[in-house]
Amino acid sequence: MISIWGSTGSIGTQTLDFVALNPDAFQIHCLTTHNNVDLLLKQTEQFRPKQVVITGDCDPSEIQATFQKYNVHILFGKLGLLEAASNPDVDLVVNALVGAVGLEATLLAIDSNVDIALANKEVLVMAGELVMNRVSEKGVRIVPIDSEHSALYQCLQGENPSQIRRIILTASGGPFLNRDAGTFPEVTIEEALSHPNWVMGQKVTIDSATLMNKGLEIIEARWLFNVQPEQIDVVIHPQSFIHSMVEFVDGSIKAQLSTPDMHVPIAYALSGPDRWESPWGSQDFTQPFSMDFQPPDRKKFASLNLAIQSLKDGGTAPAIFNAADEVAVNLFLSGKIRFHQISEIVEQALNSHRIIDNPNLEDILTADNQVRQDILNKYESEIL
Ligand code: MG
Repeated sequence: MISIWGSTGSIGTQTLDFVALNPDAFQIHCLTTHNNVDLLLKQTEQFRPKQVVITGDCDPSEIQATFQKYNVHILFGKLGLLEAASNPDVDLVVNALVGAVGLEATLLAIDSNVDIALANKEVLVMAGELVMNRVSEKGVRIVPIDSEHSALYQCLQGENPSQIRRIILTASGGPFLNRDAGTFPEVTIEEALSHPNWVMGQKVTIDSATLMNKGLEIIEARWLFNVQPEQIDVVIHPQSFIHSMVEFVDGSIKAQLSTPDMHVPIAYALSGPDRWESPWGSQDFTQPFSMDFQPPDRKKFASLNLAIQSLKDGGTAPAIFNAADEVAVNLFLSGKIRFHQISEIVEQALNSHRIIDNPNLEDILTADNQVRQDILNKYESEIL
């Protein structure tokens, strides 16, 4: 029995595509949405979950009436999500929530011995050490859905983790790979939202344009695979066909490849280590096809060094990095700041907030909240 948090988002709907392809393999316990109630209703009709959660603002009595004929238990708000998260009858949760909201829910699911398929990278960025310690205490599995980390996870099957020399995260470079950084202040929201290869949610698409997404993935990889920051490299690979690579101590490099389609890592997270027949990812090699690689421009995209800095600073620093980026992206999407200010805001936040070592959950949530408030106070009222 599985639950899908964020079932109406990009990862959530693609997860349900895989579930629909394998109707006998999965029973859905819980689906959640923030405010896409129309789609949740359609999903409820098709997949018949036992429970749904709506975390955004809504009229509960209206919702009860709308969902009545499906005989589904409805929960509301963040508390509803946390209640759903603590259900030990669920075998696996697909956490496809966006942003910091998924952290507490993930910890509750781990405590209830539920395996986690993780698309919500902020969970490991904010609290990687805490989460991974809890995962090993409880003996649950955490399987990445992020395409790069799924690639690394697949490359590491049957390997000895102590023989990893380094991991190499691939990055498409986003829409501004070849754009002059001097023009970054003029970047429009539409330009930043048009990713060359992947169709994704808004937050991760903007993060791909700033390479903040790769910064978050560096932090995610450090915790998922227990490697040091120095062992994590990034290479620009515009075709997004190699999803990441592991180099071992003997110099051998393993890579995982497919066309850029999130269905592929989602399917592996749900079926792995088995592989099930599915229509996605296959590349046509009858046509000429080449792959390119280049080192990232770390001056133009400060996000990579900021991520490494936050890992070296340790403690609450990655949570500060994450919160600052999340708020800055929202400010950019609402037209309150310009594109180049996103990384400036993250850098300022890392340099101006006190870092707490060995943080517990409360320390992390407090740091997260403080950073958000400080940035909003400073930029909310600004007019471009
Ligand atoms: Mg990724």
